[in-house]
Formats: sequence, C-alpha cells, structure tokens
Amino acid sequence: TLKGKTAVITGSNSGIGLGVARELARAGANVVLNSFTDRDEDHALAASIAEEFGVEAKYVKADMSNGDECRALIEKAGGCDILVNNAGIQHVSPIDEFPVDKWNAILAINLSSAFHTTAAALPVMRARGWGRVVNIASAHGLTASPYKSAYVAAKHGVVGLTKVTALETAEEPITCNAICPGYVLTPLVEAQIPDTMAKYNMGREEVIKKVMLERQPSREFATVEQLGGTTVFLCSDAAQQITGTTISVDGGWTAL
Ligand code: NAD
Repeated sequence: TLKGKTAVITGSNSGIGLGVARELARAGANVVLNSFTDRDEDHALAASIAEEFGVEAKYVKADMSNGDECRALIEKAGGCDILVNNAGIQHVSPIDEFPVDKWNAILAINLSSAFHTTAAALPVMRARGWGRVVNIASAHGLTASPYKSAYVAAKHGVVGLTKVTALETAEEPITCNAICPGYVLTPLVEAQIPDTMAKYNMGREEVIKKVMLERQPSREFATVEQLGGTTVFLCSDAAQQITGTTISVDGGWTAL
C-alpha cells in the first residue's frame, strides 16, 4: 500500500495522467493533480478522487512549459514521494515544415519539465528517505515514426534522463524508470486522428486499424488503467531494484 505517500502527477487533468493518479489513489497514495489551467472542474476532479478513494487530493496549477513553474509545483505539492512526469503534447509535421514554436514547446513540456521537477523533487525524496520517479515516455522513446521529430527527440531524451536520474540515486532508496506506452486512446491521440486521416486519405476506422495500430501487434489500444497499474508496480517493494530502465506497455510494438 502507498498510504501516507504523496504522489505528484504532471499533466493529470485528463488521459494517462488522470488514469495514473486514480490508480495511485486506489493504492492509498495522496495525489496532487496538475495542468496549466485553473478551472473549477480541475479542482472538482481532485475532490472526486479524494472522495472515491479516501485519500487527500488537490489540484495545483503549473505550466510545464515554464521551468520555474515546474519547480514551484513540487514546492506547492507539500511533499513528493512519488513523481510521475506525464505532461506531454504532440505535433505532426515533416521536419522542413515543422513550426519552430511547436518544436520548442514539445521539448519544454515533454522533456525539460521532467528535468525541472526531478531537480526539485530529489532533495524532498532524500529528506524523507524514499522516492520513486516514473517518467511517462513512449514507444517513441525507443523507436521513431516520420513527422514526429520533436516528440521522438523529446521522448528519447526522457529515456536518457531516466538513466541518469537512476545512476545519480542508485545507492539510495530512490528509483527512476520510464514507462513506454504504445497507443492509448486519450484526447492526445484523438486529436491526431483528423491530421492522420488527411495525410493518408483514409477514414477514421481505417486510420485506427491500419495506421495507428498497424505497429501495435495486439491491435488493441493500451488503457490508462493499465498504465496506472504499471506505475503502482514501479512504486512497490518488488520494484526496489528496478531502476534506470524502460517498461513497454505497447501490445508488442517494440518487439517488431
Ligand atoms: P492528454 O492530452 O490526454 O494529456 C496530456 C496532459 O498534459 C493533460 O492533462 C494536459 O492538460 C497536460 N498538459 C499539456 N500541456 C501542459 C502544460 N504546458 N503544463 C501542464 N500540463 C500540460 O494526453 P495523454 O495521451 O494522456 O498523454 C500523457 C502522456 O503520455 C504524454 O507525455 C504523452 O506523450 C504520453 N504518451 C501517450 C500515448 C498515447 O497513445 N496516448 C502514448 C505514449 C505516450
């Protein structure tokens, strides 16, 4: 059980981050939800998790494209035993047409944010004598696809950062690992469907089966609950000697 532990999950008002937060709360952890908005519904999400799982839950606004706000998130969380770096965005475009502002935003949100939050969280974990850093990378942290230069570069960077974090904490009761999901049907993936339909001149179902799940041999999307369960496992005692590595939850994608 993770009772008494505080988990900070970046980018957790939807999709995988929310799924991970819910599974950590189910396992007894207090959770800190985050995104860059500050709406009533964001705070209501935290309240509903607190009620459903009988844990403490709060929502802290912080923009993960801003290094100072990343660091402030850890401070405002009021504790950080478990850090899940999940915030991420995507943009699909050939390199020679790739908008520079999108490149910079993807590198900042998908990669640099994890550097800043980890830098702020490690001293907190050390003071408490235990810690877990779980970075939500991607199958695109291990392999590539065309038109996703910034995303693939950032996610490979996350896998590299994971290894360095693990080595710098290797002799402490702190671990750092990356989870590499294949396709999970979340708002981020949903948003890619129209672009991909246009690019391949296909309908929705055809794009899902032939393009998106073409590389996922199971031909099934992974679920946010499965990613939450994998995160809970990495926080368990059984995973104490698992550090600096990647766990693929990708229906066989990276086995191809
Ligand atoms: P999503 O769009 O549902 O969730 C992304 C989350 O990040 C949201 O909560 C959003 O509010 C937050 N976010 C975006 N910009 C932010 C910012 N500037 N500051 C703070 N929060 C911000 O997408 P998702 O699919 O749940 O993606 C979550 C993570 O999982 C991402 O890192 C993504 O790359 C990774 N991932 C997703 C898939 C998939 O198939 N969905 C596969 C592999 C990896």
